Amino acid sequence: MRVGVGTDVHPIEAGRPCWMLGLLFDDADGCSGHSDGDVGVHALCDALLSAAGLGDVGVVFGVGRPEWSGVTGAAMLGHVRGLLDEAGFAPVNASVQIIGERPKVGPRRAEAQRVLSDLLGAPVSVSGTTSDGLGLTGRGEGIAAVATALLALK
Ligand code: MG
Repeated sequence: MRVGVGTDVHPIEAGRPCWMLGLLFDDADGCSGHSDGDVGVHALCDALLSAAGLGDVGVVFGVGRPEWSGVTGAAMLGHVRGLLDEAGFAPVNASVQIIGERPKVGPRRAEAQRVLSDLLGAPVSVSGTTSDGLGLTGRGEGIAAVATALLALK
């Protein structure tokens, strides 16, 4: 077994589509960034890559890789799944938590878990929390995410 941790933080950009956990939220502003700004999927990919010893999201998809500019979270997670397979790992399960005021994860938790689990080929659980008004997430300036992933050697 191998365990990995991942985190991500992006600034919120007014009027930008809000992709989070592989879903589009119509009632929140999205995050700016090199990709679609889905911090939940970015943290999840970071945790998976870390568990496999394959580096991090910056190495695989970062600004030095223009071919990934604007990439969707779904495409990123699918690519990471392929890298894990090539490296001889099978995902066991993963957990992602979104930290921010919006979007609210709870009402769409089941949908997000279904989408991410299908993309990864293993159970992904999703949760959300706030920072009680403190810091950049509490002021609505950004959204943060933290993830943990467990892999098995095939
Ligand atoms: Mg990111």
